[in-house]
Amino acid sequence: MKTASARIAANKRQDFIKEYGVVPISELHRFFIKKKGVLMTKEEVLKKYFGYDSFRAGQETLVNSILSGRDTLGIMPTGAGKSLCYQIPALLMPGITLVISPLISLMKDQVTALNQAGIHAAYLNSSLTQGQYQTALRNLIQGRYKIVYVAPERLLTESFLWAASQIEISMVSVDEAHCISQWGQDFRPSYLKIPDFVEQLQVRPVVSAFTATATAEVREDIAAILGLQDPVTLVTGFDRKNLRFSVKQPADKMAATLAYIMEHPDECGIIYCLTRKTVEEVHNALVGRGFSATRYHAGLSDEERRENQEDFIFDRKEIMVATNAFGMGIDKSNVRYVIHYNMPKNMESYYQEAGRAGRDGLPSECVLFYSGQDVVTNQFFIDRMEAAEGMDEETAALVQERERERLKKMTFYCFTNECLRAYILRYFGEYGDNYCGNCSNCLTQFEEKDVSETARNLIGCVKTARRSYGMTLIVDTVHGSKNSRLLQVGMDQNPYYGTCEEEPIYRLRQILNHLLVEGYLFLTDDKYPVLELTEKSEEILNGSTLLMKTAKEQPKKIKEKKPKKRLLAEEGEVDYDLFEKLRGLRMELAKKDRVPPYLVFTDKTLTQMCQLRPKSKEEMLMVSGVGENKFRKYGEAFLALLNEERQD
Ligand code: ADP
Ligand code: MG
Repeated sequence: MKTASARIAANKRQDFIKEYGVVPISELHRFFIKKKGVLMTKEEVLKKYFGYDSFRAGQETLVNSILSGRDTLGIMPTGAGKSLCYQIPALLMPGITLVISPLISLMKDQVTALNQAGIHAAYLNSSLTQGQYQTALRNLIQGRYKIVYVAPERLLTESFLWAASQIEISMVSVDEAHCISQWGQDFRPSYLKIPDFVEQLQVRPVVSAFTATATAEVREDIAAILGLQDPVTLVTGFDRKNLRFSVKQPADKMAATLAYIMEHPDECGIIYCLTRKTVEEVHNALVGRGFSATRYHAGLSDEERRENQEDFIFDRKEIMVATNAFGMGIDKSNVRYVIHYNMPKNMESYYQEAGRAGRDGLPSECVLFYSGQDVVTNQFFIDRMEAAEGMDEETAALVQERERERLKKMTFYCFTNECLRAYILRYFGEYGDNYCGNCSNCLTQFEEKDVSETARNLIGCVKTARRSYGMTLIVDTVHGSKNSRLLQVGMDQNPYYGTCEEEPIYRLRQILNHLLVEGYLFLTDDKYPVLELTEKSEEILNGSTLLMKTAKEQPKKIKEKKPKKRLLAEEGEVDYDLFEKLRGLRMELAKKDRVPPYLVFTDKTLTQMCQLRPKSKEEMLMVSGVGENKFRKYGEAFLALLNEERQD
């Protein structure tokens, strides 16, 4: 068996050389990567190409797993550094690595970054003309690329299958792998082509998959549908310590947004809205007031979307106002804040979107502006959800039900008085202590209030109602409202009618939410969710005390100080003037090379330059993010600037 396959391999090699006049990539690879008789180590690749000194949590395990030939599934939060987990093995393995990725923008970004690092990579997708596509395929066959990004739709086309049969494929790596699962929030039917493609290859390569979605269903789907063989699975901590979370319920969201932006001048941020209309409103308000903002939603032409995205990525515009259509795979590292102008539909979306802040590890903020209308809008979207391609009615109904359940958990997030970080992590299956000291709940002063009486009235009202009703009706009843629906169903005759006249509606809602979070009442998953008693309900009716933490009303601070820039460095001061100068130089170089500034150097790299003030090539290479290739391109320019500064 072995000799036969060896013979086939030898013949294949001969055919290959005859047809293309070049040796297969595996041999070229050995030539390139060999250094004094030994292959480069993964640490050397990390330093030389990417300019980093050490692996982050989880990266090393995943790299080792792939290099040992095992299928691998990596689940890490956005910004954790999943790309390196397949890019480094790709450089160390003999053949070519194919990376499947869902979006054109994402591929382009990744390939540009690799080229910047001095690595031969390309992408194959519908943004190429027929001619460019053919050229790229030819280069692929000739072994010019080590890493090739492919759109899933291309995999089973005749031309690509043929090309794939001509090359040695060491690994197929699936990025954003949750797209293969119908339980995920970005199901893409074209991802289902991946297992078919892998099956058609003569030699099965290592298959690796990466995602930031950690729920159990999605994880199982990925392994099963992709046909991972006994995979090494690694889930790293989901905590992003540099992000500060907060939830606010401003009476005027627009005013709150403007105030926030004014307090954070010169910082890049994303504002997510639920609908196109809201994007337009917020965008207009910002632009009208002279802020440097752009927008992104599905109603714009491809052309305009691309332009706006680039304006943001290239730092030509500071603020991006967008729907959730914006962002998958956006690797802009210096986003300092993400504001959710509306509550998104579930925690997965929230954490993924919020997680686009602070990818460089510097302190950043994630602010959510909640209002009751957000729940209504999301419910409307769920009701109108269309079944995805190839989904039967039953499955579609199930998916809808799950969406409602997820929306509920998202809503609870906005009302919880616990540590927000703890709530998020628990949602993703991580348990920790309940105090992070870096979220709006941990940071505001709490006061614990005895809400037993109101709780008793609410539960009593649910218990004595003739049938089950939704939250609004119950709140209205105890509040003693006179709306027509309430009168129509006779709730004004309920013994608890008007028992909480004094409490404002929002307080009643908060307390009701607290009862749900604590399990004293239950909200069904139906299209029109209704409240029901639980086994704990009686405790309250029998006189137990219920405490609820609420934020103390903060006396309004009058801001006199000019807004201060965020301290960029995690430790130690940073000279902002110098930082701005380095930033200016980065912009200049980026323009010249037509790449986004963060692909020249990230904010974090510039910050370190400010602190270390390297004087020589050796010192410069010690700055995190400066690899040899980057140094060759940009190192001298930065050294010269730093030198000038020293002389002043
Ligand atoms: P994601 O997990 O969301 O795909 P990326 O792979 O895009 O994350 O990486 C996020 C950022 O972290 C990038 O700017 C990347 O260069 C940086 N990064 C990755 N690994 C390391 C490391 N070992 N040391 C320092 N920075 C790293
Ligand atoms: Mg990624």
